[in-house]
Amino acid sequence: MTAPVVEGSGLSVTYGQRGHVHHAVVDLTVAVHPGEIVGVTGASGCGKSTTLRLLAGLEQPHAGTVRLGGADIWAEGRTPRPPRPGYVMPVFQDPVASLDRRWPIWRSVTEPLTVGRPRMSKQERMAAAREHLARLSLDHLDVRCLPTQLSGGQCQRVAIARALVAGPALVVADEPTASLDVTTAAGVTRVLREAADQGTALVIVSHDQDRLSVLADRILRMNRGRVVAEEVLRPLVHARRGTDE
Ligand code: ADP
Ligand code: MG
Repeated sequence: MTAPVVEGSGLSVTYGQRGHVHHAVVDLTVAVHPGEIVGVTGASGCGKSTTLRLLAGLEQPHAGTVRLGGADIWAEGRTPRPPRPGYVMPVFQDPVASLDRRWPIWRSVTEPLTVGRPRMSKQERMAAAREHLARLSLDHLDVRCLPTQLSGGQCQRVAIARALVAGPALVVADEPTASLDVTTAAGVTRVLREAADQGTALVIVSHDQDRLSVLADRILRMNRGRVVAEEVLRPLVHARRGTDE
């Protein structure tokens, strides 16, 4: 079997102190492989967003290990060590939080292309931004706009373009289609599926069961910080992708 892109083992996160201890995530173990889309669902407050932050290396677990590309990212202490810059890209619930509000959108979308790669001119970056935004049906946008000039749904698609632009190994997305109308959400779903078909692993949080069923290969249901059920929707995917499991 191919090595997992991300592997969380025995993850726990506890908030609060002195009698008000709250277990946000409890002994959670999950592995996600290249090209796989894992959905995470459950009631509000069950630990979905915390789980995403753990898998993205944005929050340190109080117990357990997170491996990205096989390496324990917290092995050296309080600074996470991802395998390479841009290995994991997050898309947050609040789309504006994924973008720098002072930057024109061409700059946010193409920033992942500037890390460890040949230098691009501003013109090249603007052209690349237009190309990637077109895939999310945003070809009509002026790439010199600021995020504050866009609707929430447009911002979310810009954030998704940024997350996918440099071919990340893993994308974690928190309610990525929550602020979108049905047609736009379907377009975003298609783009996420294409990214998975090209080998990107995705972990997607949603309370929209129907949308997750369309998109995910596997759905984890959480309750009070634990995975309480796992539904495999597309068991043949690994075989189709030729893993020697
Ligand atoms: P979900 O995304 O499923 O709604 P979260 O992962 O955001 O759930 O939160 C899980 C639980 O942990 C909730 O009860 C929430 O209130 C609590 N929690 C999350 N983040 C913090 C924090 N930074 N400080 C204290 N409690 C938190
Ligand atoms: Mg949440």
